[in-house]
Amino acid sequence: MLVDNNNDANDWRNKYDWSDKLILIVEDIEANHMFIAAALKRTSAQLLWAKDGMEAVEMCREYESIDLVLMDIRLPKLDGYEATRQIKEFRPKLPIIAQTAYVMSNEKGKVLQAGCDDLITKPIRLNVLISTIAKYIEE
Ligand SMILES: [Mg+2]
Repeated sequence: MLVDNNNDANDWRNKYDWSDKLILIVEDIEANHMFIAAALKRTSAQLLWAKDGMEAVEMCREYESIDLVLMDIRLPKLDGYEATRQIKEFRPKLPIIAQTAYVMSNEKGKVLQAGCDDLITKPIRLNVLISTIAKYIEE
């Protein structure tokens, strides 16, 4: 749902109402999770937090209403590639956006090969985070 209650079309802060959306943040670093959660607070999205790849897979099984996953790649127990592969086996259409600090040239290929729909690079920029999520969640 798009709520146009701001005259500045480029200002995403009041642009999105995702109060009916459930987003799973997969992130092992608490400070990074807090940053993402704070950024998404303005959209009113409902948030879940998984701290490792195994927990991410379990939560995707448990919460069928999850609309989108923000997947860190470097994770304990199960990395983001493997967690994505497993989630896509039972939820092939669930959008998964990888977030990684790795900027090696083959990173995007690896991320897409694992089944991720998109990739954002750390440090995460707020407007990139929101606009990338919007591409998949507003459909
Ligand atoms: Mg990490």
